[in-house]
Amino acid sequence: MMKSMTFIQLLKINKFCRPALIRPFSDNNSDQPHPIKRTLKLLRNDMRKVKTFFTPFFEKRHEGVEKNVESSNRMDDKEFQTHCDVLIIGGEGVGSAAAYWLKKKARQGLNVVVIEKDFAHLNTRNCLTLPMGGLRQQFLLPENIEMALYGAEFMRNAKEELGVDIKFDPHGFLTLASAENAETLKTMSKIQNEFGAHTEILTPERLKVKFPWLNLEDVAIGCQGLEKHGWFDSANLLLGLRSKAMEYGAHFIQSELIDFKFQNQPDVVIEGESTTSTYNALQKAIVKMPNGEIRSIKFSICVLAAGTSSEKIAKLAKIGTSSGILQIPLPIIQRNNYAYMFNSDDINASGLGTPCVVDLNGLYFRRDGLTGNYITGFSTSTDTKNGLSENNFETKVLPSLMQRIKMLKKPKVIDAWEYSYEYNVFDENGIIGPHAYYNNLYIASGFSGLGLQQSPAVGRAISELIIDAQFRTIDLSRLAFDRIIVDRPIFEHAFM
Ligand SMILES: Cc1cc2nc3c(=O)[nH]c(=O)nc-3n(C[C@H](O)[C@H](O)[C@H](O)COP(=O)(O)OP(=O)(O)OC[C@H]3O[C@@H](n4cnc5c(N)ncnc54)[C@H](O)[C@@H]3O)c2cc1C
Repeated sequence: MMKSMTFIQLLKINKFCRPALIRPFSDNNSDQPHPIKRTLKLLRNDMRKVKTFFTPFFEKRHEGVEKNVESSNRMDDKEFQTHCDVLIIGGEGVGSAAAYWLKKKARQGLNVVVIEKDFAHLNTRNCLTLPMGGLRQQFLLPENIEMALYGAEFMRNAKEELGVDIKFDPHGFLTLASAENAETLKTMSKIQNEFGAHTEILTPERLKVKFPWLNLEDVAIGCQGLEKHGWFDSANLLLGLRSKAMEYGAHFIQSELIDFKFQNQPDVVIEGESTTSTYNALQKAIVKMPNGEIRSIKFSICVLAAGTSSEKIAKLAKIGTSSGILQIPLPIIQRNNYAYMFNSDDINASGLGTPCVVDLNGLYFRRDGLTGNYITGFSTSTDTKNGLSENNFETKVLPSLMQRIKMLKKPKVIDAWEYSYEYNVFDENGIIGPHAYYNNLYIASGFSGLGLQQSPAVGRAISELIIDAQFRTIDLSRLAFDRIIVDRPIFEHAFM
């Protein structure tokens, strides 16, 4: 169709679209490109915009990710480091945040290397490829509240700090409780407010006024977090952390850690270990490059931030497979879950200001964008599979949704995806700090569904431990691996 248009027709279209850009022909404009070329260029830009608008969300996201990965891959060969001060295993939220903070503080003083086996995650669903990224402050433990508050502050400054727009949607979080859990929710809200996270307890009457689309039959109270609660673009946060860390000089290398090499240090004695056994320090990482080549990286300090693979990697360091302190495994497992996107044009469905609702039975839902799309799923599960699958939205999720939202029409599911996250089976909380046996191994893993929002605080905490030998901002010492050795769990009641 375009080919058969005359130049005048093209000009008219262009004039309609962009009047300000059409300039009269004159000798003064001799430095301007030829008018036909200029018009075609403008049309091409318009077509590109139309295409971007209609490209489905996930495709757009993959395009961005692919570009990022191309540049990561290009740098591998010339950037490969055989020695470094700090080696970080895992280049997602936590690993990238640790690299960002270490380099921001120490700049040229520390050579920081991040190894990541799969930068793009094109075949797995993670924070890069899914539109997920909830930020909330509704926790019981002060440590989690403080980390969440810092996450919110960091995200507020993401534009200046990282140069990215994390597109924060400040629609809040609403947790519902039955009579049985009402007191716990009240206590949690009290603690949250003491620490500066503003959450409000809502009676059923108030809930009814604020959220008339909710069915409240079995609800005793709700807790709403307005400030610093909402959702953000997880990919932008992650890519921002990575690129800023690179700008500060961190080396991101695509490779998979497959083993460690140890160094015997007979002069080191580890507290709690038999004096007859000699200490073997972690010394080198053996990594497999994307082309299959095996290389090694010698490091002074290693940070384990490998999410769901952390326990497997810990085993390579003999954690959980040897004797003494090393017989205690890293209690992190992989949990799988499903999320669904549905569309509803039911007039009774919740409106644009809908918060992310966390229901009594673990059901959650929130709006996504302005076109009647919602994201939903079940967050709670006591085993690694929670019985959800791509095909059982209708049987498993929909009944709970219809029970909570007074919708008349059945919504249509338009997408479903499986994803996994790391889970600490010991007490559900993150593990941050040095390992009790290895004086050069720091663990930063096990944050359940919160790894991304907590990553700015966790990364900063790891940098404090490595550079200052102590926590300087938020005291996270209760979250160290030591609590597993002495069997002192600290439970959080709020994980989704
Ligand atoms: C669908 C979905 C929704 C989420 N929603 C939220 C949310 O709302 N709020 C929030 O805060 N967080 C959210 N998260 C984050 C998530 O729950 C985790 O807590 C977070 O991803 C943990 O970050 P991490 O960096 O510790 O681990 P991961 O993200 O698991 O990253 C670990 C990295 O280590 C790499 N790795 C593993 N083994 C090796 C090896 N041998 N060699 C080299 N590299 C290796 C992996 O490839 C991986 O990239 C979501 C995640 C998903 C998937």
